[in-house]
Amino acid sequence: MLFECYPSIDANPRRCFPGHSMELRKDPITRSWVIVGDDTDRTSQPGYCPFCPGSPNAPQVISTLSANEHGASPAVAMVHPSPLYRIEGEPHRRSEGIYDAMNTVGAHEVLVQSFRHDIELWQSSDAAISQFLLLAAQRIQDLKNDLRFKYVTLFKNYGVPAGQEFSHPVSEITATTFVPRRVLYELRASRDYYLEKERCVFCDTLNQELREQVRIVESRGGYVAMCPFASRVPYEVWIMPRRHEASFEREALSASAQLNDLSALIRRTLHRVTSLAEAFHMVLHTVPNTYQKSNILQYWKTVNEDYHWHLEILPILATRAKPYFLKEVYYTPVSSEVAAERMRTVAVR
Ligand SMILES: [Zn+2]
Ligand SMILES: [Zn+2]
Ligand SMILES: [Zn+2]
Repeated sequence: MLFECYPSIDANPRRCFPGHSMELRKDPITRSWVIVGDDTDRTSQPGYCPFCPGSPNAPQVISTLSANEHGASPAVAMVHPSPLYRIEGEPHRRSEGIYDAMNTVGAHEVLVQSFRHDIELWQSSDAAISQFLLLAAQRIQDLKNDLRFKYVTLFKNYGVPAGQEFSHPVSEITATTFVPRRVLYELRASRDYYLEKERCVFCDTLNQELREQVRIVESRGGYVAMCPFASRVPYEVWIMPRRHEASFEREALSASAQLNDLSALIRRTLHRVTSLAEAFHMVLHTVPNTYQKSNILQYWKTVNEDYHWHLEILPILATRAKPYFLKEVYYTPVSSEVAAERMRTVAVR
């Protein structure tokens, strides 16, 4: 095995008591889950970086992917110092009249792609990014073995406007007992498209975009970066595999994985994004946990054919304070055609 696990949770008392007042509540109309709780546990930041080597109160290490022969530095998964979800117990889904609530059971991890405090993901070598992707895939796979979890997300918030929590360059993983709303929309829409056409909507989109070459930012090996037709924000860009695959972790952990091409494309795309925007959210959309033995499996029975994993990058531009209605209906002042053209002209090494 490439990594070791430390199942003991006692080393980090905050993880045992992550705020008893937190709970998940479901909006009965939109059916989205919301974390409700006081913020006291998350506001107490230590005065030193918890992820730099030699930190006096480093978070508990979950697994390590050691340095490899290509010169990648070790990548480490740690327990989030003030997690939104806790690993122990059962969700105890309950009703309060017409409402649904459950405990914040789940996992919340921090992926430290480098011990260097001053090197961001897109400033790292392709070998280091590959190492990070491999660790992420292993963590997602491992968390999916826990049948309580229906979805595992990998995401990165960069810049203060994006809600970046630590100054050290990190990404985060959460495992949840529900599928987040945006992913649920995508899964349902992909399934409906497949039922009608027996094709993957992402493959169809990609084929058209590759023919037209208007919204493509860059193709690299088996991966493509493109600005979606109906971008929600300026310079929104998605990275996805050309060949159909629903599961990022299955692809990344397979023997034939071309992680170097994917790493280079992520590095170059984030370089373009950060030259045009001061902050961004990056989120991985991959299949839900199909190990679940419940009717979930039945519900998503065509998911391997109809869904297609991708990374979504949503830049945040400095100046725009939007009126309320624009938050309800997305408005972007930069079309995806112009965005792709501007991004292609950014000089990247
Ligand atoms: Zn640091
Ligand atoms: Zn596809
Ligand atoms: Zn998506």
